[in-house]
Amino acid sequence: MLYVVPTPIGNLGDMSPRAIEVLGSCDLILAEDTRNTGLLLKKFEIQAPMQSFHAHNEHKKVEQIIAELKEGKTISLVSDAGTPGISDPGYLLVNRCVENRIKVDCLPGPNAFVPALVESGFPTDSFVFEGFLPKKKGRTTKIKEILGEKRTVVFYESPHRVVKILEELKEQGGADREVSISRELSKKYGETIRGTVEELLEHFNVNEPRGEFVLVLKGVGRKHNI
Ligand code: SAM
Repeated sequence: MLYVVPTPIGNLGDMSPRAIEVLGSCDLILAEDTRNTGLLLKKFEIQAPMQSFHAHNEHKKVEQIIAELKEGKTISLVSDAGTPGISDPGYLLVNRCVENRIKVDCLPGPNAFVPALVESGFPTDSFVFEGFLPKKKGRTTKIKEILGEKRTVVFYESPHRVVKILEELKEQGGADREVSISRELSKKYGETIRGTVEELLEHFNVNEPRGEFVLVLKGVGRKHNI
């Protein structure tokens, strides 16, 4: 069977005992970056063979992995941080497992968008996760779409595009919209800043964005969950 194993997004204390047990007892670990995962395995004294499995080789490797799973091997998939398959490699392998009736067990665990969504204080009853917005083609259309969304919208953004996306939201008429920006979640200098697009633009024009970011936009016309 295939285990999908979430790993910490910044705080090693978030590595679960079950994740350690599963990684330590499988036949093979597929890692997005074997060097990164090697350090994690060393920290938790986990010994298991490891192979690389990332966006650039997953299409080439997937059939071989499916064959090994069919032979009865237990394989774990990890990414650099958080839950594999969430803006990380994982979808293709899981999809092929499902097609081949191979059991998939995704352990509950670290991930960046759920804590950012909950910390925003915006309605959580219904939300959309957009991953990373398109960088070029389709970006403006997507921004217009998220500004028209009634549900809370969560997305990932790199630090050097935080000011740009706030400017784009403003340009598209969203200056007064409420946003919540979480950075460095679970890490020492983690924080969540809330305000209008305009206010957060002022904030980040003074405080250069550093670290890893999740943006949460309150849905159009939404007040409370309850
Ligand atoms: N698989 C991961 C997950 O489950 O959330 C996401 C991987 S994606 C390649 C990396 C992005 O996740 C970063 O660019 C950032 O937007 C977000 N992220 C990861 N760790 C974070 C953290 N500690 N604080 C805030 N955002 C984080």
